[in-house]
Amino acid sequence: MTILDTPTGTVPVGGPQLPQERRLVTEIPGPESRKVLERKAQAVAKGVGHSIQVATVAAGGGVLVDADGNSLIDLGSGIAVTGVGNSAPRVVEAVQRQVAQFTHTCFTISPYDSYVEVAEALNRLTPGDFDKRSALFNSGAEAVENAVKIARHYTKKQGVVVFDHAYHGRTNLTMALTAKSMPYKNGFGPFAPEVYRAPMSYPFRDGLSGEDAAARAIAQIEVQVRAENLAAILIEPIQGEGGFIVPAEGFLPALQKWANDNDVVFIVDEVQTGFARTGTMFASEQFGIVPDLVTTAKGIAGGLPLSAVTGRADIMDSAQVGGLGGTYAGSPIACAAAIATIETYEEENLVERARELGTLLSDSLNALKAADPRIGDVRGRGAMMAIELVDPVTGAPDAALTSRVHAAVLAQGVVLLTCGTWGNVIRFLPPLAISDELLAEGIDIVGKALADAE
Ligand SMILES: *Cc1c(COP(=O)(O)O)cnc(C)c1O
Repeated sequence: MTILDTPTGTVPVGGPQLPQERRLVTEIPGPESRKVLERKAQAVAKGVGHSIQVATVAAGGGVLVDADGNSLIDLGSGIAVTGVGNSAPRVVEAVQRQVAQFTHTCFTISPYDSYVEVAEALNRLTPGDFDKRSALFNSGAEAVENAVKIARHYTKKQGVVVFDHAYHGRTNLTMALTAKSMPYKNGFGPFAPEVYRAPMSYPFRDGLSGEDAAARAIAQIEVQVRAENLAAILIEPIQGEGGFIVPAEGFLPALQKWANDNDVVFIVDEVQTGFARTGTMFASEQFGIVPDLVTTAKGIAGGLPLSAVTGRADIMDSAQVGGLGGTYAGSPIACAAAIATIETYEEENLVERARELGTLLSDSLNALKAADPRIGDVRGRGAMMAIELVDPVTGAPDAALTSRVHAAVLAQGVVLLTCGTWGNVIRFLPPLAISDELLAEGIDIVGKALADAE
């Protein structure tokens, strides 16, 4: 790996110049990773888990290098964050320049240009040909909370409808919005009130058309909540943590129409699907929906913590001055990174690249499915694809098989993430900076691990 000499010693340098190869020099985890994990157990709260036993020291392109010098194929992008690649050159340069200039003022004390530029870019790039405003925050959960605040303020109503399998974060309000109890909510209540859950469209399991699934959801909303009490419908266009569930065609437009007709704000959570990931800049574009408000985070700033709410100017501007913000929200360092990240998506045409990776993924995964009835479903869009593992006879979720495959591919030097309400979904979220060769090698290792797993 490339080494940088500094006054305090040498450090490995990441970014795309790292050798783009899978290379195992110790078992996984190696002794150095193990040392970090042992210290973690003594110093870090247990509730902060980790899904792979590997301590990273450098990353870039399609690889992570661990403390022992192993180079692993990255099929997770830190959960869809490093779409432009880890330590992407433009991001590194922009952050270094900004850190040397000024690190913080608090935007709500003294504004600066880069925050405004990020807002302008979001207003331009998000779906909808109307006057928009943006507000920046630190995390996806914080963006979702603020979208709900804004929708309540604008409509003067309180109810929020969310869906089965939804994931919106781990703060108090977003725990209430998230569906799954273990591990996200269990024992952490009481949760925020006025949150109502509706059935999702899940074609593999419900077999319903988008129209029928939407009619089912709307009928339930009308009986259990009523539009006159409802501030917002909040939905992920493709559910992330819940299992990469792609709703049937027509489901999302029908919900949007009902929301628009009933003075209900239609909030689309694109925290995981946003920024080229699905083969369009935002997934909403592929489903024919135009959010009133859209929440973004993960892929927005090349790994720096930043999130946003963007939407119709009249809704966004309804909150009083001082009602939105936060000490670090829209930090100048994160904003510099976001500008460089957005420039990278556009100039390197990563939307198109996500589509190419999507074709490679869907061809390979469908080939695996044709040969293995335990793969019940292949689904997703662009560089956000998944396989759902099931009992071939009953269709019951097979979480144990999923865990075995996850562990087996890690031992072979592939970082892979799982998800799903029942823990039986393997998701592929490669950096858009990965090469075809590395992605193909990674998928091949998953296929072999699956074939070897009883
Ligand atoms: C990850 C995620 C969140 C929460 O984002 P954090 O930055 O972890 O708070 C919210 N919504 C969706 C769809 C996500 O994938």
